[in-house]
Amino acid sequence: MKIARLSEILQQLDKESYYWQIGFYGLVTAMTSHALFMLLFIFLDIPILVAVNLLSVGIYLYCIFVLGIPTLRSKDDSKIGWLVYGELIGSNFLATWLLGKEAGFQFYFYIPAMLPFFINSYSRIVYFLRLAFIVFLALWVDISPLFEYSRLPIDSLWLQRFHWLNLLIFLLIISALSYLYALKEQAFSRQLIHDLKRDPLTDLFNRRALSEMVEECQKTSSRLGVLLLDIDHFKKINDSFGHECGDHVLEQLASKLKKICPNQKILRWGGEEFLILFPDTDADTLYLEAERIRKMIQSSILHYEEKRLKMTVTIGSTLYERDTESFRDALLRADFALYQGKQDGRNRVILHY
Ligand code: GH3
Ligand code: MG
Ligand code: MG
Repeated sequence: MKIARLSEILQQLDKESYYWQIGFYGLVTAMTSHALFMLLFIFLDIPILVAVNLLSVGIYLYCIFVLGIPTLRSKDDSKIGWLVYGELIGSNFLATWLLGKEAGFQFYFYIPAMLPFFINSYSRIVYFLRLAFIVFLALWVDISPLFEYSRLPIDSLWLQRFHWLNLLIFLLIISALSYLYALKEQAFSRQLIHDLKRDPLTDLFNRRALSEMVEECQKTSSRLGVLLLDIDHFKKINDSFGHECGDHVLEQLASKLKKICPNQKILRWGGEEFLILFPDTDADTLYLEAERIRKMIQSSILHYEEKRLKMTVTIGSTLYERDTESFRDALLRADFALYQGKQDGRNRVILHY
């Protein structure tokens, strides 16, 4: 049995996703609560509940220091899942049996109903069986006269205090779990939306981001410069040096474009086509900018393994006038300008009004 050091665990936890951090701190919180209850039962001189809580602390220490985060992270997290479930049901059932339902330990039975939010590996059947068992237990404790009174000699004021304390802890746990779950979902959705609008190869925006980009550019002006840039004879690069080399060239060109146009919106429009949006510009400036980009690409050298590659691009450009046309019209115009540039011999800028 290998016991992890606390410093090791904290170091590893730092690198873990939010999801596993929640799981880990959940275990720590459960262990601390049982340690506090143990002290309370020592004070009240109820040895059996001291022993039960000591066992619970032991189970959580085992989960944290022996099974640890790797188990929590792997598909094998059911080991921790079963231990937590067993501990929750077992210790709280015993406490309810001994102190009666007035003490309110039965509230904790409901917590496992929320655990599937955090633990992935439950099958649907196992989840519903566990849920059914919790529902049965909760109803039984509530209805049966077996849990009406305490079996131990304890002051009724203490039973009431336990009731309030358990209700408070239970409410805090389910609020924290729901809150953390909502945060996790929000972070996940944000990441998903971000990924959806990015091209994984170049990390540039893709077509899904177009309307958002156009809208953003139009905040400052109703006139927008549109450049459609296409690599010349890109197929030859793939055919001569392989697809991987082609990918590498696309990545390098994307980062070059980001440097050349730091204030413009750049999208990877298709395979080896890029769309650049220039807010607040006029035809002359747009043409000069497009020429500047074309020349900078022509004069730069790209590297792949030991090879030094050169390439040229053709650029179709136009101005989008928001008040008189749709963005699609402007795109078609830029595309036609690009087509004409290719027809005219490539490595050039064509501007269409
Ligand atoms: P042109 O000068 O007329 O534009 O010629 P071209 O060879 O650049 O154009 P064509 O449209 O004939 O070929 C584009 C090539 O780009 C075809 C396709 O295999 C390649 N391509 C598209 N997307 C990717 C990609 O993500 N990675 C790589 N390596 N190649 C790609
Ligand atoms: Mg091309
Ligand atoms: Mg193309």
